[in-house]
Amino acid sequence: MPRVIIEKDRCKGCELCVRACPQQILRMTREINVKGYFFAEVFDQPRCIGCTLCALTCPDMAITIGANSVVYRFFEV
Ligand code: SF4
Ligand code: SF4
Repeated sequence: MPRVIIEKDRCKGCELCVRACPQQILRMTREINVKGYFFAEVFDQPRCIGCTLCALTCPDMAITIGANSVVYRFFEV
């Protein structure tokens, strides 16, 4: 099963990932991160298809996807 990890403190609350997800399983929380933004979260992980669109869309590279034994991380740790 694909796994989506959102690093909440990298998020700037732009909601682009929420709009990009074809499964509509991302949403914004009502909590704020260290930058003072509402951040994105996955609320229905089992429905993720591992398409990586959310990670590709994120301008702040806050999302990592694990799918089919591959980790898609678009930033340096
Ligand atoms: S990998 Fe695809 S299906 Fe999974 S949360 Fe991201 S955009 Fe949605
Ligand atoms: S696209 Fe990135 S910065 Fe924008 S809400 Fe999603 S995780 Fe946060």
